[in-house]
Amino acid sequence: LPPGVRGDLSVENVTFAYEPGRPVLRDISFSAPAGSMIALVGETGSGKSTLTNMIARYYLPDSGIVKIDGYDIRQLTSKSLAHVVSVVPQQNYLFTGTVGENIIAGRDGATADDAIAALRSLDCEWLIDDLPEGLNTQAGSRGGRVSLGQRQLICFARAVVANPRILILDEATSAVDTMTEVRIQHALERLLESRTSIVVAHRLSTIKSADQILVFDHGQIIERGSHDEL
Ligand code: ATP
Ligand code: MG
Repeated sequence: LPPGVRGDLSVENVTFAYEPGRPVLRDISFSAPAGSMIALVGETGSGKSTLTNMIARYYLPDSGIVKIDGYDIRQLTSKSLAHVVSVVPQQNYLFTGTVGENIIAGRDGATADDAIAALRSLDCEWLIDDLPEGLNTQAGSRGGRVSLGQRQLICFARAVVANPRILILDEATSAVDTMTEVRIQHALERLLESRTSIVVAHRLSTIKSADQILVFDHGQIIERGSHDEL
């Protein structure tokens, strides 16, 4: 990709099966102009996460094309694709290490200052004071000292450090208290600002703020439109 990626995304007639003969995505097409937000909704198993796998190129479509700024993503190097597209997965993933290390993992060469700046840009600097040892608090797969809501915010901060033009977010469904919910929602809005985003949405507030909602059913888009249209 040339420098100055706009972040126009288009998915054209994408079909995909993990196992031959059992298609999980069937002829999926849509476009997300630079800076827009697309919400994916639909019942469990309908193919939402699988579609995000296509855009991040974790799997290649059996047929159809994913394009960024008009370029077929198969032509990009993994490195340039990783610069443009970041994924916040459904299962918030923290590795063993400190919270700060988990945040700066978003980009090679990032520093503790970048971690703080990322939290600030999400209006989440308070998180540092809430954690027992601030950015030095140990996190990890068992995540003993980090709550579920905090884990989500740490993953958002990692994505800010990566600063992708296109962000894919598979919204977590974990139950958090109302106060945390409000803070996560606010941080999410900050995170998505001025990027193209594809969000597997569970919260009504997320769905409402989408430019376009795609309703999935058994691997197909059965409805599309804004919240007011649907
Ligand atoms: P949820 O809302 O529960 O996250 P989803 O819409 O994201 O569901 P997907 O994870 O895309 O659904 O799954 C779509 C279908 O593909 C399901 O039938 C699922 O069992 C199957 N599937 C998902 N991942 C794999 C995999 N790695 N290998 C084989 N089948 C898979
Ligand atoms: Mg999913």
